[in-house]
Amino acid sequence: MRVLAATSEIYPLVKTGGLADVAGALPLALARSGIETRTVVPGYRAVMAAARGRKVAAWEHLFGGPARLVAAEAAGLQLYVVDAPHLFDRQGGLYVDASGQDWPDNWQRFAALSRVTAEIAGGLIKGWRPDLVHVHDWQAALAPAYMRHGAAPAMLSIVTVHNLAFQGRFPAAIFAGLGLPDAAFSLDGVEYYGGVGFLKAGLQAASAITTVSPTYAQEIRTPEFGMGLDGLINARAADLHGIVNGIDTEEWNPKTDRHLAANYGPGRLGARNRNAAALAGEFDLDADHSPLLAVISRLTWQKGMDVLAESIDAIVAAGARLALLGSGDAAIEGELLAAVPRHRGRVGVRIGYDEALSHLLQGGADAILVPSRFEPCGLTQLYGLRYGCIPIVARTGGLADTVVDANHAALDAGCATGFQFAAAERGQLVATVARAIAVHRDAGAWARMQRRAMKADVSWDKSAAQYAELYRRLIGENDKTP
Ligand code: ADP
Repeated sequence: MRVLAATSEIYPLVKTGGLADVAGALPLALARSGIETRTVVPGYRAVMAAARGRKVAAWEHLFGGPARLVAAEAAGLQLYVVDAPHLFDRQGGLYVDASGQDWPDNWQRFAALSRVTAEIAGGLIKGWRPDLVHVHDWQAALAPAYMRHGAAPAMLSIVTVHNLAFQGRFPAAIFAGLGLPDAAFSLDGVEYYGGVGFLKAGLQAASAITTVSPTYAQEIRTPEFGMGLDGLINARAADLHGIVNGIDTEEWNPKTDRHLAANYGPGRLGARNRNAAALAGEFDLDADHSPLLAVISRLTWQKGMDVLAESIDAIVAAGARLALLGSGDAAIEGELLAAVPRHRGRVGVRIGYDEALSHLLQGGADAILVPSRFEPCGLTQLYGLRYGCIPIVARTGGLADTVVDANHAALDAGCATGFQFAAAERGQLVATVARAIAVHRDAGAWARMQRRAMKADVSWDKSAAQYAELYRRLIGENDKTP
């Protein structure tokens, strides 16, 4: 089976969040069951530097300038890189400029990614045509619309929603620049509340929709989580699937992780103390044995980081230390930083993005706190399980699906792997941290929970099998239609 994927980020080449992890890991996992994936990616500077290859197509004018399509291999991934310097060769973020503003031509940049994907689906490359096109998030979601409205009308497609909050909404005026037929500006096309909606267009045109956990798949059917798209998603409920993300269990393996001060497995949990000591040094924390909570997060409202900031005094009063790594909203960063002088030795905050430090946090902290208001899947709780860094999570989306709360029944049955609280709200968060601290006092019970967490299957195997099954079903159904 041949799958053409499209994504605006892919680990290890370019990453701002969980989308990159999924786009990078799924092809490798699918390859083990005989599915070949080639992935279309923008030719950002980092991608052009890492992925040298050969030109397989060219355009004189692709949304404002000349472009080439380069077939390349990098990190075991087969890529089609859209080398369009006028769109992607620039300093700054993937989606925003150095001052944090969206690039004004984002609609052209990601329409180009989508258009190229649709053209490959339509036979641009001699000798290689996919059986199915699988695109991720709004940046690639226009591809099914381009296919349906001309480039490859019969091609099967899947849109995966990693976060419904990001929709790719633009004014109606851009429609003329997209190169779609006039008829596409309609209720069942790309029109969205009077403008153009990239994600909306994909959700409408795709053969199937997936999102990254069963609970989030249900949540986005409600007005509270649907963010304006719940009506459309409900209309397509029969084609909606929730498949939890896996993690790269080689990259994230406490036995071999080169970012740790000490490696360990479930039988050598004591070695975690050396990682905890290293963290105390990194974050200027007291080197005692009080429970150490980690946070690794974008510092945003979605992630409940404002609620965390409000809860810090109570968390410290309950006896825990807190080590936080993240960046995001300036106001939230400020509130978190302000807690450090209030709680010297108890709270450490590092503003920034630091892959190595994120590993050390998972390998040394006792628990990882994820108080999200909504969380399509979440990865940090999965790393936490793998590292015996017990997840304390809000019961939403993928957090609800991947952590077994240590309530009395679960503790009795010996199946608890973490702690859940009903909603990102200060009282609930603090009470649940207190509940975790109480269990932590019983070193034996805590170690049992850590070992259980470390046994949870967080690999890609199960998830990749579910995607493969969905691919096969769509292709099978398509073959049956006359
Ligand atoms: P989202 O994609 O919504 O930000 P996820 O939990 O799905 O949230 O994925 C976040 C990913 O980014 C994880 O791999 C996490 O470890 C990583 N991450 C987030 N913030 C940081 C940071 N400041 N430093 C290092 N890694 C980070």
